[in-house]
Amino acid sequence: MTLTEIMQTLPYGPAPEAAKPALDWIKAHKARFQLFIAGRWRAPASREWFATINPANGQKLAEVALADATDVDKAVKAARKAFTDWSQTKGHVRARYLYAIARQIQKHARLFTVLETLDNGKPIRETRDIDIPLVARHFYYHAGWAQLMESELAGYAPLGVVGQIIPWNFPLLMLAWKVAPALAMGNTVVLKPAEYTPLTALLFAEICQNIGLPPGVVNIITGDGKTGAALVEHPGVDKIAFTGSTEVGRIIRKATAGSGKKLSLELGGKSPFVVFEDADLDSAVEGVVDAIWFNQGQVCCAGSRLLVQEGIAEKMYAKLRARMEKLRVGDPLDKAVDLGAIIAPAQLEKIQQLVQKGVEEGAKLWQPSWAVPAEGCFYPPTLFTEVAPASTIAQEEIFGPVLAALTFRTPEEAVRLANNTRYGLAASIWSEDINLALDVATQIKAGTVWINSTNLFDAASGFGGYRESGFGREGGREGLWEYVKKIEVHRTAQGQKPRARGLTARASAESLPPIDRTAKLFIGGKQVRPDSGYSKAVYTPDGRLVGEVGLGNRKDICNAVEAARGAFEGWRKTTAHNKAQVLYFLAENLSQRAEEFARRLSEQTGQDGGAEVEAALEALFTAAAWADKYEGLVHPTPLRNVTLAIPEPIGVMGILCPDDQPLLALAHLAGTALVMGNTLVVVPSPLAPLSATDFYQVLETSDVPAGTFNIVTGEREELALTLAEHDDVDAVWYAGPRAGWALVERASAGNMKRTWTLPPSGPLPDTQEVLRQATQVKNIWVPYGA
Ligand code: NDP
Repeated sequence: MTLTEIMQTLPYGPAPEAAKPALDWIKAHKARFQLFIAGRWRAPASREWFATINPANGQKLAEVALADATDVDKAVKAARKAFTDWSQTKGHVRARYLYAIARQIQKHARLFTVLETLDNGKPIRETRDIDIPLVARHFYYHAGWAQLMESELAGYAPLGVVGQIIPWNFPLLMLAWKVAPALAMGNTVVLKPAEYTPLTALLFAEICQNIGLPPGVVNIITGDGKTGAALVEHPGVDKIAFTGSTEVGRIIRKATAGSGKKLSLELGGKSPFVVFEDADLDSAVEGVVDAIWFNQGQVCCAGSRLLVQEGIAEKMYAKLRARMEKLRVGDPLDKAVDLGAIIAPAQLEKIQQLVQKGVEEGAKLWQPSWAVPAEGCFYPPTLFTEVAPASTIAQEEIFGPVLAALTFRTPEEAVRLANNTRYGLAASIWSEDINLALDVATQIKAGTVWINSTNLFDAASGFGGYRESGFGREGGREGLWEYVKKIEVHRTAQGQKPRARGLTARASAESLPPIDRTAKLFIGGKQVRPDSGYSKAVYTPDGRLVGEVGLGNRKDICNAVEAARGAFEGWRKTTAHNKAQVLYFLAENLSQRAEEFARRLSEQTGQDGGAEVEAALEALFTAAAWADKYEGLVHPTPLRNVTLAIPEPIGVMGILCPDDQPLLALAHLAGTALVMGNTLVVVPSPLAPLSATDFYQVLETSDVPAGTFNIVTGEREELALTLAEHDDVDAVWYAGPRAGWALVERASAGNMKRTWTLPPSGPLPDTQEVLRQATQVKNIWVPYGA
């Protein structure tokens, strides 16, 4: 027998990790766990308990308390009480607590590892080498941000009590992603782990107790979906951070609508894994193993759609099948196992049903020749080829070890297929041509793109979705914004009182021209009549008629969205320098008509119009200045790679302007959103819309490309609802009464568009906040090395 033959036929022997220390820990708690509230263990008010099961063998591990609304209330109150001191605790002191947590996790790494594998069923190799080390890394990293908060986030304060709801696929890691930044920024938390996997969160609670974390800073309440819902609905919670299914994310979006609670959602995905013909195929095959068979494919960013360039497809499939034949499925505690158990029978059934659907819809199924263990929840690695792009298995998140393969011919087609999904969490691109890879990376709509790599995570890099994969980032500097709020109060966009320019309301009112204009909308670069054929009167504050604007309706909004969508790609690709030029030119043209605008403003608002025009000009200049200066970051992730955190435009945005300072608000909000590469449908201030309709004449004479800046006047709430419901709108900013916030936030759940709600009057948000709201961060991981 040759050495090669020996190596090829060498059988694996079992190499199981001992479960005893973890089982002893469970036994020491009499296999029954209470709720961790205000630093103490308490029995649930409900007096109900539920079992947590080892999915690899179906055996019960322990009983866990089921928190009801009373328990949630107690936990929120404990967190509120603790917030007073914790938020005042110096950053350095908070850093030391986070550091202590990280150290404890490292010291008890093996216990955490085994416990996680028992409760979740994932291979011990993954809990040992990925989950637990990353958990420690998150606490270390955020200890650093706690230390630096006072200098690096000056002017920002913690939010208060944060409700955090996490799924079962990365139980302790999701806890770390949420708890570490929240605590670092001075918030207190109430965390609900998933029903299937509560144990490591309870061990974590013990650690918090052991290091003397002040009572109430971290509260862990176990329970089911109802517990989560009670936490979402509790009025004492200032923010909800959720990771889980898009379906529940949508419920939470609706439940929090209008409540003023800050929200971040990390939801599902159907991430593309794109292989070009010049890729290193053997590496790409290993990449697929990590992309879809890591954690049995129960990963939100799993590379579940393999897109292969046509010429190499058969070769790639052959290599993949050979590799799949060698994968090992079995006891998750065995260190030589590649795939462990599926979380629960219900999930296994869901996978089986979707696979069945794939077969029925005509895709070609391939599974290895060997059988998975008959006992416990196991499913073999599965490959579908000849998959139609619109079929169920190409569109729906299966959340199992099932790969759907499609082919493409050109990079353009690859991008089209990659983006042919309602999700936008992650993507993986394989090519030896870095020009091609980066070009494609910037075109794929996803929060994270890995080049020649996949499923890389680090605390220094932000993670989060585009589209129906949710919004908000976790990790990196960008993740901190989810847990802070601005404390400064700004009088205007520039933080100064508008300067007087010598024009008074009275003087300008006297020189107003008569009502002589036909009210129109501005759509696709043209003045158009409103579809309704109706106009709406505009009055001065003392009740005099000053003009009319068109009464836009659903049809007008749809036309405007269509125009904005059509203009988006071109505008997105326009260089930052040229975008700035467009805004400077706009400002120049506005300045030429400053007096006319000032008169109009004074008339409509009764305020100093001259000062407002000045402030609007300054806002346009500020926006233009940021065009090429709102930079991304290079995150120092601990691998041989660069991770580029790039702010990207969100897409088509609806902006409903506030009542006050109509021209300034338009310039500041819409100008900034535009310069970041978004295309807009702007609904001007309902009290003083004439400045905006005058403004389209300035737009016409500037170089603003047709369709990038559309203006629709009309009833704010009606237009807001249409925009929020529209599936081709990616974000809505709504400044208006509180009732409208709820309307917009609830309606936005359809395609999970980002929303930003603002009061109808008062100070405008500062430029940094607007820039952040106008962009989303994409993290592109680029490994290097010869
Ligand atoms: P869910 O989205 O239902 O659960 C995530 C978390 O939310 C859990 O803690 C859950 O509690 C809780 N929850 C459930 N209902 C509510 C509610 N109405 N209000 C507040 N919190 C709630 O995911 P599942 O675990 O049920 O998995 C279902 C499917 O979701 C999977 O098949 C998979 O496709 C997808 N999924 C996606 C994830 C991702 O990261 N993208 C993660 C997990 C699942 P409890 O566990 O007690 O029910």
